[in-house]
Amino acid sequence: MNITADHESYDRERTGFQLAVRHRPEVIFAVESAADVRTAVAHAAARDLPVAVQATGHGVPHPGEGGVLITTSRLTGVRVDPEAGTAWVAAGTRWRQVVEAAAPYGLAPLSGSAPDVSVVGYTLGGGLGIMARQYGYAADHVRAVEVVTADAEHRRVTADDDTDLFWALRGGRGAFGVVTGLEFDLFPVRTLYGGGLYFADFDAVHAWREWTADLPEELTTSVAVIPYPDVPALPEPLRGRRVVHVRIAYTGTVADGEDLVAPLRAFGPRLLDTLGELPYSRSETIYNDPTEPAAVQGSHTLLHTLPPEAVETARAATEAVVEFRHLGGALARDPKTPNAVGNRDAAYLAQRITRGADVPDVHAHLEKELRPWATGGQMLNFVSAAHATPEAIKAAFTEEDYARLQHLKSVRDPANLLRHTHTIPPRG
Ligand SMILES: Cc1cc2nc3c(=O)[nH]c(=O)nc-3n(C[C@H](O)[C@H](O)[C@H](O)COP(=O)(O)OP(=O)(O)OC[C@H]3O[C@@H](n4cnc5c(N)ncnc54)[C@H](O)[C@@H]3O)c2cc1C
Repeated sequence: MNITADHESYDRERTGFQLAVRHRPEVIFAVESAADVRTAVAHAAARDLPVAVQATGHGVPHPGEGGVLITTSRLTGVRVDPEAGTAWVAAGTRWRQVVEAAAPYGLAPLSGSAPDVSVVGYTLGGGLGIMARQYGYAADHVRAVEVVTADAEHRRVTADDDTDLFWALRGGRGAFGVVTGLEFDLFPVRTLYGGGLYFADFDAVHAWREWTADLPEELTTSVAVIPYPDVPALPEPLRGRRVVHVRIAYTGTVADGEDLVAPLRAFGPRLLDTLGELPYSRSETIYNDPTEPAAVQGSHTLLHTLPPEAVETARAATEAVVEFRHLGGALARDPKTPNAVGNRDAAYLAQRITRGADVPDVHAHLEKELRPWATGGQMLNFVSAAHATPEAIKAAFTEEDYARLQHLKSVRDPANLLRHTHTIPPRG
């Protein structure tokens, strides 16, 4: 189905989760098959029109003006192979669908904090999941990518048959093709010891920081300072308060989990404590990310280290959600099959999120305050449109990898058709 700006469903079709930034294409191809994707890319290539892809609109890295927008929300489907321990998804599939399909086999994917993010958009950008310290990035566990490249050919790409493209797609996100299907590993995780601890005292962030110094890789955690609105939908103790929310996912036993968390619980009174045995199918309750579309702005800094002074930068930033995610473990190691995901040296990710379409000063202010501990790198999945400068995109990769990506781009997409994304310009 092709939708132009005069069509009554144009606005609905181009609108996703992120309301602050939207594509304004000349024509939308609402695809239902890989063949439709080929038609859309061929249409764009014949007219030298830029191509954007949207699954859920959680990312929107570049508000594409004109050109072609391919929406994949109708191209969904999951197949689980319990023997092989893998799943295959179609382009527009959300994590929630994979979690549900894998759970009956005692398997879990490397999904992230929000179940409605698309598997493909998340994985191509790296994919920092709730079990990330144990298993690494989602992109580290991809087995095959089905993709329509800029020449409008549909191919199945694996490590063996197109090493360069397979390497670039896993980390280089939408710059190298429109993915129609993805095959990846699942993991034998039926339940977690997981949930959240909610404190009223900002100093709980310091307690969390100290606690992360010595954690096993089986435990992945983050802390967010959240100014909650006073709304009935929230649990009563959180309403209208600025709350420190510690998020925990541990794949060991409940008894070991209780022991590990004891020092943090000892910090002081909790507003809420939801930690306990948790089926992976309910893992979205660990973060409780918003599910309603909204205008939000995000920015982030990758850190070598998180000293108390870095934590203190968040104390006065009352208008933002400020989050620190603990990295390291498997995230710091190269995967068996190399990919383009960069910045494996970062120990923490500091993120800030504000509501509304404007970008308030708190983003630039915290970026500056955290500079002494910053690696200088960026994580592609968290580079928002407002901060997606060519330098920020370059900073998502090592210098050597960026040069390799640019070279590949000049071979595989010399006209830079796939540029309404975090584009990597071809060389020359
Ligand atoms: C509430 C929230 C929670 C999040 N939590 C996490 C998290 O825990 N870990 C994490 O790593 N990230 C997280 N993210 C970031 C998220 O993973 C990225 O924004 C991701 O790109 C979203 O993918 P999408 O397809 O759902 O979004 P979209 O906006 O639809 O797409 C974003 C981009 O992904 C690429 N893309 C999507 N589909 C295709 C395709 N078929 N072929 C080629 N390229 C494609 C394109 O470049 C596109 O512009 C979160 C974002 C939000 C808003």
